[in-house]
Amino acid sequence: MKSDHKKVISIAEFRYPPAAPVIPAQLETPSGLLTDTLARPLRDLRISVTDRCNFRCVYCMPKDVFTTDYPYLPHSSLLSFEEIVRVAQILVAHGVEKIRLTGGEPLLRKDVEKLVAMLSALRTPAGAPLDLALTTNGSLLARKAQALKDAGLTRVTVSLDALDDATFRRMNDVDFEVAEVLRGIEAAHAAGLGPIKINMVVKRGMNDAEIVPMARHFKDTPHILRFIEYMDVGNSNGWKMDDVIPSSEVVRRIHEQMPLTEIARRQTSETASRWRYRDGGGEIGLVSSVTQAFCSSCTRARLSTEGMLYTCLFASGGHDLRALLRTSRNDAEISSAVAHLWRAREDRYSALRTANTPASAKRVEMSYIGG
Ligand code: SAM
Ligand code: SF4
Ligand code: SF4
Repeated sequence: MKSDHKKVISIAEFRYPPAAPVIPAQLETPSGLLTDTLARPLRDLRISVTDRCNFRCVYCMPKDVFTTDYPYLPHSSLLSFEEIVRVAQILVAHGVEKIRLTGGEPLLRKDVEKLVAMLSALRTPAGAPLDLALTTNGSLLARKAQALKDAGLTRVTVSLDALDDATFRRMNDVDFEVAEVLRGIEAAHAAGLGPIKINMVVKRGMNDAEIVPMARHFKDTPHILRFIEYMDVGNSNGWKMDDVIPSSEVVRRIHEQMPLTEIARRQTSETASRWRYRDGGGEIGLVSSVTQAFCSSCTRARLSTEGMLYTCLFASGGHDLRALLRTSRNDAEISSAVAHLWRAREDRYSALRTANTPASAKRVEMSYIGG
């Protein structure tokens, strides 16, 4: 019998209710600085380009929920590249400097390099190019790295949860081998998409024995390994606090074998804390969204595959920009609606996370909104 959390949650259920953005009577011209109720500017945009994936990572798209008859979004619901670029352009005028393409698996979206080329043509109000990144599971990267670089991508983050093949296959749950992801990382490096960040989600009892081997493997390379605390995103992964290995424990385990020193973050909005090897062997990052929330410096908005704007990864609903795009609203109206909703933003889910957060609270799935 399936446990309660494993019941199929349809997209219609977790995106409900999409809020209709308010278009203020008085339209405004963007100034390049938009702040929310906690004085956090809008600086980053994550765009999910597909809700589909060729992996079934146990912490993200568990196989018994994301079955072959799972109700993925129909093609007509997806934002077109033109629609995505229009939203991005409006948000860049409000201060967005970094865009990250994600998913699902973004390299599954047909012709994604065309979207990269279109986004790379955008400029900030000061005339600077954007920092344009992409997060991928690496399965198609060996084939696509050069085309992505040629299209104007700045850098990639590759997710890899283990070096041990059996452990990795258990995590991705589709029997995908480590070697092909490593080939993808090398191809991205050769194409100039570095420094490459490697994301490892740590789940207790699943891949924590891989913490030290992964650290050892990527030490003394140009790549930056980042350990991600397993998060309670969505409703389908059966998250429990006991499965989380706190970053402090990750650091302790590595430090015992390869001494580390903490170093300053480059920017306050950076999600990862940084530690360098004392022998000069490079650095690692720790993303501690469960044990050390970083909501006070969160400058990220997320655009879902079907054009809902989310102001928090843990939101239960988004703001329906697609409805505005498809009802002939002009850029000034959409821009003013975005300004109105960002100014009202008060999200700080991780900071407020408590042991008694109701398990039934509806949250959007990671594969829909992107990480
Ligand atoms: N498919 C791509 C990939 O895996 O890199 C991009 C999308 S994936 C949702 C983005 C990132 O979210 C990945 O690094 C993944 O490991 C991470 N992620 C997914 N579910 C997570 C969870 N429950 N806790 C922490 N990180 C998670
Ligand atoms: Fe797919 Fe990425 Fe989620 Fe894994 S983490 S199932 S690769 S979207
Ligand atoms: Fe940002 Fe929400 Fe994550 Fe806090 S919980 S860091 S507000 S996305």
